[in-house]
Amino acid sequence: MHIALDDLPGHSGSTVERQPDGSLTDADLGRGTGDDAGRRPSAVGVLARCSCGWTGPTEHRPDEAGRMSATSDWVVHMRPLWAAAPPGWLLSRSDSLQESVIELAGTWPLQALGVIAHLERWQRTVTEEAVAQARDAGSSWADIGAVLGITRQSAHERFAQARDASGSRRGHRPAQQ
Ligand SMILES: [Zn+2]
Repeated sequence: MHIALDDLPGHSGSTVERQPDGSLTDADLGRGTGDDAGRRPSAVGVLARCSCGWTGPTEHRPDEAGRMSATSDWVVHMRPLWAAAPPGWLLSRSDSLQESVIELAGTWPLQALGVIAHLERWQRTVTEEAVAQARDAGSSWADIGAVLGITRQSAHERFAQARDASGSRRGHRPAQQ
């Protein structure tokens, strides 16, 4: 059964049923029309699966409650991916800003450089603040590195130090993960 929540490209969730012979079948295949609609009487368990290849860690009872639990497993799998997906409207603003600066550089290059210097000043501060917030919220250096397109090690080296330098931030904890 397809899990109708916001999919991300390459991540489409569904629940699958474990048959007594150990095989997994799409839960929709057994959907009947009677009281038992929605599951095969023969299923012995239900679990979540994602089109990326991920399979839920827990097999639940083959009933509605079990199906809900399997759906929750998929949500847990998706949560960091949703969290890291930037909002499209903001990305398109960023794209149009980039186009404007490129255009400006063609006619008034020094003005364009002035805008770029301005962007660099605030993006450094905002990046460090966002990293600190992500750490406070429990994100690992690997999570942060993945979003920024750098390795876990580079993320740690770049930001753990900045964080130490900023002194006793709230919730400061030793660099790890
Ligand atoms: Zn997935």
